[in-house]
Amino acid sequence: MAREKHFDVIVIGGGQSGLAVGYYLRRTGLSYVILDDQEKAGGAWLQTWDSLKLFSPAEHSSLPGWVMPKDTEEYPRKDHVIQYLKDYEVRYKLPIERPVSVMGVQKHQQLFTLETSRGEYSSKAAGQCNRHMEKSLYS
Ligand SMILES: Cc1cc2nc3c(=O)[nH]c(=O)nc-3n(C[C@H](O)[C@H](O)[C@H](O)COP(=O)(O)OP(=O)(O)OC[C@H]3O[C@@H](n4cnc5c(N)ncnc54)[C@H](O)[C@@H]3O)c2cc1C
Repeated sequence: MAREKHFDVIVIGGGQSGLAVGYYLRRTGLSYVILDDQEKAGGAWLQTWDSLKLFSPAEHSSLPGWVMPKDTEEYPRKDHVIQYLKDYEVRYKLPIERPVSVMGVQKHQQLFTLETSRGEYSSKAAGQCNRHMEKSLYS
C-alpha cells in the first residue's frame, strides 16, 4: 500500500531542533512528519569525533519535556547525547522517516512540494531544522 505523503507540516531534519519542533507539533493535532537523511537517530552527533562532549551539563542541554539524564561525567559524552536523542524519539513517538534526503522545496499557491530521495511529499507548511541553514532548500 502506498504511504501517505501529504501532511499539514513537514519538518526537514531529525536532529535536536527537529525533535523539539516535533514535540510541540504533537500537541497540535496537525498531521506531520520529520524527514531525516541519516540512517539512525543522533543528528550531527553521528558525524563528530568520538571524544566530543557537550559543553554544558546534561540538565542545560535538554529538549522540551524531558530533562537529559546525567552521564557518569559532568559534560555528557557523544554516545550519551545520541542515546538521549534516540530515547527521546521513542518516548514521544515522533513520526520520523529515515533515511529520506530532501533535495528541494517549492511553494505553489498554498502547497509546499518536497523533492526527496523517496519521491515527492507535500504539505501546507515546511520547515528546515538543521545547523547548516546557509544552504536553503527553498526555491
Ligand atoms: C563541541 C560542541 C559542543 C556542544 N555542546 C552543546 C551543549 O552543551 N548543549 C547543547 O544543547 N548543544 C550543544 N551543542 C550544539 C548542538 O548539540 C548541535 O549543534 C546540534 O546538533 C544542532 O542540532 P540541529 O537539530 O540544529 O542540527 P543537526 O544536529 O545538524 O540535525 C539536523 C539533521 O537534519 C539532517 N538533514 C540535513 N539536511 C537534510 C536534508 N536536506 N534532508 C533531510 N535531512 C537533512 C542532518 O543529517 C541531521 O540529521 C554542541 C555542539 C558542538 C559542536
